[in-house]
Formats: sequence, structure tokens, C-alpha cells
Amino acid sequence: MSTDKKCAHVGCTCPAKSDSKYCSTYCEDSAGTTTLTCDCGHEGCADKL
Ligand SMILES: [Zn+2]
Ligand SMILES: [Zn+2]
Repeated sequence: MSTDKKCAHVGCTCPAKSDSKYCSTYCEDSAGTTTLTCDCGHEGCADKL
């Protein structure tokens, strides 16, 4: 049993907030958009190319 829910955003690797499917409002707002990169700003998740 894992307590680490991953953010439901397809391009996001952050753990989701305990009260949400997403890690941030950014991911919540962009959930309907198919983006390969996440720009939620969390450490280790930003597009660092
Ligand atoms: Zn993210
Ligand atoms: Zn996220």
C-alpha cells in the first residue's frame, strides 16, 4: 500500500497532494491538455532541457 500518489497530470512526476489528484493548481488546470512537460514549478519536475 502506497501513500505516494502521483500527480494525475500526464507529464508530471510530482507526488499529488493528499486532498487532490494533482500536485498543484497548475496541473489541475492543465489536466485537459495533453502536454508532455510539466511546468508546475516543483523541484525535479520542471522542464530542464
Ligand atoms: Zn509537475
Ligand atoms: Zn503535478
